[in-house]
Amino acid sequence: MACFPDFVGSDALRERIGDAVRQNRLSHAYLIEGPEGSGKRTFARMIAAAVSCEKRADEGADLPCGECPNCKKILSERSTDVHYLDRGDRATVSVEQVRDIRREMSLSPTELDVRFFILDDADVMTPAAQNALLISLEEPPAGVLILLLAESADGLLPTVRSRVQTLRLEPVSPAEVKRYLLRESPEARKLNGEGKNKLDAVIAASHGRIGVALEYLTPKREAALLKTRETVASVIRAAVGGANYREICSAVSLLPSKRQELASHLTALIEATRDLIVLKRSPDAPLLFYVDRDEAATLAEKADYLKLIAIYDALRDAADAIRANGNVGTVLTSLSVAVRGRT
Ligand SMILES: [Zn+2]
Repeated sequence: MACFPDFVGSDALRERIGDAVRQNRLSHAYLIEGPEGSGKRTFARMIAAAVSCEKRADEGADLPCGECPNCKKILSERSTDVHYLDRGDRATVSVEQVRDIRREMSLSPTELDVRFFILDDADVMTPAAQNALLISLEEPPAGVLILLLAESADGLLPTVRSRVQTLRLEPVSPAEVKRYLLRESPEARKLNGEGKNKLDAVIAASHGRIGVALEYLTPKREAALLKTRETVASVIRAAVGGANYREICSAVSLLPSKRQELASHLTALIEATRDLIVLKRSPDAPLLFYVDRDEAATLAEKADYLKLIAIYDALRDAADAIRANGNVGTVLTSLSVAVRGRT
C-alpha cells in the first residue's frame, strides 16, 4: 500500500524509501535535502516511523501505518529513541553539540529497535562539528540511523557528503499544495472563501513548499504577504505601463528600506518580471508570481521584450547590490533610472 501517505509530493522518493524499509536495506545515514519549509523534518520523522512501525512487514498496510503505538509516538515527536538536534538561536551547530549527540549514540534504545538521530541545519555545522560527526558516519554504532537535514548539500564537507546517501525533496505542484491546505488548514479554507485569489497568492509565494504556505497562513504573515504582493504589482504596473520618471520613483518609494525586507521584495519583483518575459514566448508557461494569468498577459503585452529584459536586469543588479551591502537609497535611485530607461 501507500508509502508515507501523509507526505505530499516527492512520489518516486517515497516509493524508493518505502521499498528499502520493507526490504530492510536502508543505509545507515541519509542527507535529506530541500529548501526551508519543504518538509525535511516531516520526511525524517516518517522514515523513523516506517522503520519502527509494527505493521512494517504487512504488505497491505500503509507505511508508516500511523496507528500503532510506535508510529503515534514518533510522529508526535514523543519517542525517547528519536533525537533531534538543531542550531536553535545560534548561527551554527557546534562541535560540542555533535559530541553530545555522539555520546548519546553509544547508548542502547529504550523503546524502539533502532535509535534515530535527526540533525537539522546540518549545512551550518562548523567544519569541526562535521569532522566530529565523520567517525559516526564512517562506523555508525549498531542500531543507529542518522538523518542529516540541510537546505543544500553545498554546506557540507565532501568527506561528509560522500558518506551519506542524498534524498532530495521536490517542490510540490500548486494544485497539490492547494489540495493539502484546503484539507488541513481551516485558515486556508477561510481565505479561499474570501475569494479574490487570496489563497492562490499564498500558494504562489510558497513555491511548492507546504511548510512555507502554512506559515504564510498565520494572520499577521498573511497580511504582510498580501501587502508585499500589492507593492510589487504596483511597481511592475508603473515599470511596464510607460509611467514617467516621477511616477516610477513614487512606485519604487513604496518598497521597504529595511535591507532584508527589500531583498524579498526584489526577489518577488524579479519573479514577476520573469513571468511577463516567459508569457511573451509561451502563453501557457507556469508562472511564479502572478496568479491571475489574464492580468499578467495584459501587462506582458504593454511592454516590448527588450524593455522587460532591461527591467529584469535592473532588478537583478539591485538585488545583487543589496546583498553586497550597497546603500539602500542609492540602489533604489539607480533602479528607478534603469527601469525608466529610454522612452
Ligand atoms: Zn505503525
